[in-house]
Amino acid sequence: MPQATISLHNKAFAPYLSEAQLIAAVRAVAQQLNRDYAGKKPLLLAVLNGSFMFASDLMKELTIDCEISFIRVASYQGTSSTGEIKEILGLQEAVEGRHLVVLEDIVDTGHTMKALLAQLQAKQPASVEVATLLIKPECLQHQLDIKYQGLAIPNDFVVGYGLDYDGLGRNYRDLYRAV
Ligand code: 5GP
Repeated sequence: MPQATISLHNKAFAPYLSEAQLIAAVRAVAQQLNRDYAGKKPLLLAVLNGSFMFASDLMKELTIDCEISFIRVASYQGTSSTGEIKEILGLQEAVEGRHLVVLEDIVDTGHTMKALLAQLQAKQPASVEVATLLIKPECLQHQLDIKYQGLAIPNDFVVGYGLDYDGLGRNYRDLYRAV
């Protein structure tokens, strides 16, 4: 376990989960994917920016044929009836008939994932599942079937291992939580 509290934009974050604990969770997810997707050549869609470290470590543990592509979810305000709209950016591959696995760093309310899954489903893939490193079950506001979950955490704001606080903190190997 990392010892020192860190400071980002003058806000303090205390050590929470070690790199070893995170990597163990990543390995467990990879083992499930290796088992479930053998012979299916899945297309992994890593959601930037936060999932880059998770995606990298996960890929190193996959022993099946698989491809990866990186996408972004852009949010903008629609009309008052439509509320916030989320659009997928950067998806170049044809996904029709493919087995898709969305890679997320963290699922909080689930708003992002719900919108993303609806848009991906509309492109008629063979299947779509989600693999998230972290999930905050207390915060979920949508009925989402997140098949692959690394670690469930309480309602804390966390940084490190790819996750940021206003741009900073992605470079830390361990996970920290706001204090
Ligand atoms: P949701 O749409 O599920 O509420 O939120 C998803 C996004 O919010 C995540 O992809 C992430 O960018 C951000 N997010 C939610 N909780 C945290 C957190 O604890 N730490 C960080 N760094 N980002 C978070």
